[in-house]
Amino acid sequence: MLERFKQGELAESADLKDSMDSRIAFLLGEIRREILSTSGKEKKENNQIKGLISDISHQLRTPLTNILMYEELLEEGGGLDEEQRLFLSNIREAAVKSQWLLKNLVNVSRLETGAIAFVAEREYLRRTIVEAAQEVEGLARERNIRIELEEFQDVPVLQNRRWTREVFVNLLENALKYSPQGTEIRVAVKRQVSYVDVSIEDQGIGIPKEERKRIFERFYRCRNVEDEIGSGLGLYLVRLILLKENGNVMVEEAFGGGSIFHVFLKLEE
Ligand code: ADP
Repeated sequence: MLERFKQGELAESADLKDSMDSRIAFLLGEIRREILSTSGKEKKENNQIKGLISDISHQLRTPLTNILMYEELLEEGGGLDEEQRLFLSNIREAAVKSQWLLKNLVNVSRLETGAIAFVAEREYLRRTIVEAAQEVEGLARERNIRIELEEFQDVPVLQNRRWTREVFVNLLENALKYSPQGTEIRVAVKRQVSYVDVSIEDQGIGIPKEERKRIFERFYRCRNVEDEIGSGLGLYLVRLILLKENGNVMVEEAFGGGSIFHVFLKLEE
């Protein structure tokens, strides 16, 4: 009887009454209703969150762009004293930081609430890496840092290209942000038995050993990066994406003190 109740064949407690103690039947009916209403409520809340996220992101994008545009106009207008220029640069920094946060927040929420269907398929890897490198080209030039992609034979992996590109963009942006001018970033692809290991090595400030495990947590930022703009969401997003692709990410210390991030993607021969 309980088995049939679990399968949903006996919908109402009244059906149970003949063959079960009426109190048990009553309680089972109550539990069933409670479960049904909770899962319905959850779905509704999930939908509301999805709507809210997309509303907020749309509403915030334009004002942030406006702030940056007016800041630029004021700066170009000239005739400012030193203090005014400092205030303007603070405005710019805060707006850029908010844009950064918004972008990652929207991506994390989309993935976590299932607002988008995440489909990973067999796709070649080279194009994903090259596109990511192109996306950070401007920042690399600004920081005078060279990104060196070592020769490798292209391989098909299990991925959603748009999101895997986001993984590499985030890792490259970090490598650029946390490295001094004039250094180099090396990207290498090594094929293993069932995985491909993409390593991104920088000559930057490095990550203190005791904090290495924590950097993939939401909003975690190391003590040594207070001056740099960031949200602490980038690596959390990286891991979230890779887990959806049956991949993974880890970090180790580079020779000389920088960081090496390893992205593991599943080979799809
Ligand atoms: P953020 O927006 O702060 O960069 P992330 O989630 O991308 O957030 O990274 C979390 C933290 O990990 C960073 O705040 C920084 O302390 C550390 N980190 C990430 N990548 C590097 C790197 N290449 N070199 C040094 N520290 C890094």
